[in-house]
Amino acid sequence: MSQRITALLEKHHHSKDELVELLSVQSDQEIALILDKALQKKASAVGRKVYLRGLIELSNICSKNCYYCGIRAGNKNVERYTLSDEEVLSCADFAWKQGFGSLVIQTGEQSGQAFADHIERLLNKIHEQTNSELTITLSCGEQPEEVYRRWKQAGADRYLLRIETTNKELYYKIHPNDKNHAWENRIESLENLRKTGFQVGTGVMIGLPGQTLEDLADDLIFFRSLDIDMVGMGPYIEHAETPLFANVHELWPAPERFRKGLLMIALLRLNMSLINIAASTALETLDPLGRQKGILAGANVVMPNLTPVSNRKNYQLYNNKPNLDKDASLSTVTLNQVISSIGETICFNQPGDSKHFLKRVADNQENFSAK
Ligand code: SAH
Ligand code: SF4
Repeated sequence: MSQRITALLEKHHHSKDELVELLSVQSDQEIALILDKALQKKASAVGRKVYLRGLIELSNICSKNCYYCGIRAGNKNVERYTLSDEEVLSCADFAWKQGFGSLVIQTGEQSGQAFADHIERLLNKIHEQTNSELTITLSCGEQPEEVYRRWKQAGADRYLLRIETTNKELYYKIHPNDKNHAWENRIESLENLRKTGFQVGTGVMIGLPGQTLEDLADDLIFFRSLDIDMVGMGPYIEHAETPLFANVHELWPAPERFRKGLLMIALLRLNMSLINIAASTALETLDPLGRQKGILAGANVVMPNLTPVSNRKNYQLYNNKPNLDKDASLSTVTLNQVISSIGETICFNQPGDSKHFLKRVADNQENFSAK
């Protein structure tokens, strides 16, 4: 059996059946074979490097009702907040001075002119204050193409919009089946983001109730078919105040969701060697060493949380989210030690663009000038 796995790992492009086979491995020895190969691939393709993005959870106000998420509009137990511009700028200043190189601004999904203006204003202010030395990723949900364009022009570089699952039937088990949550809209948004010139990131949750290994293999193939630049994916973690909590008995045990999370990262690195892959906070929630293990499985991005400590308890997408009471500066120092201790180097003061994206841009230019 291990021989078969070793042979499969020589390939750079796996079929669905092969991905299912690799995702099904159970023995520690075979899992280690896959993770080791992914780490080798990471080392040769993008180096043993880790890029930082300071995460700012701008607001927990959300107009949507995703069945899995703790800050869904229907959860009346959440105290809603939006950070002031001063608070955001103070997070940005911290990230800049600590040499993070990059920020992620994430929010619950909001729409309308005022929200579009708000994000645009923040982008302008952050760039002004930090000498445009931070690259910025937005994770602000589905928006009209025009809004994406405005944000891109105001200096956002990347956009993260997870498809959550590529199995449409499962998608409607975890979202209301209405026009506010249409799977097609999400796909269209991803296409619009690409057209607008963003480095485009997507991702899925791993271990959703009813999700199969075939679904996860399809998710990997979806990332490849969209030629995606970056991926943030992690285990699904239940939240007691959400409708999906009713299905908690159907879930794979947490250690299994964690292992599948690592395998997904590793298989993605093997199939899309140059993309950026985040070691998600959800991995860290299920295992105290989750971040490091994610990096050693092929991830190259971590997102230390810069959200003011007093707001963090109100941005609980799932139960037991870590670092609720930790100060951002403390985690930076420890993070550096932790990352070095596993043989990786944090790239301070660097934008950390997706090499996959840079290559596509260069290839397009080459084709253009050859014409
Ligand atoms: N509102 C934006 C961004 C915030 S949510 C959006 O939905 O795109 C960011 C991500 O958190 C979601 O894409 C989802 O994949 C993840 N998430 C939400 N609830 C979760 C849960 N219970 N377990 C794991 N991940 C979850
Ligand atoms: Fe809102 Fe995003 Fe949570 Fe859905 S996943 S409820 S859009 S914050």
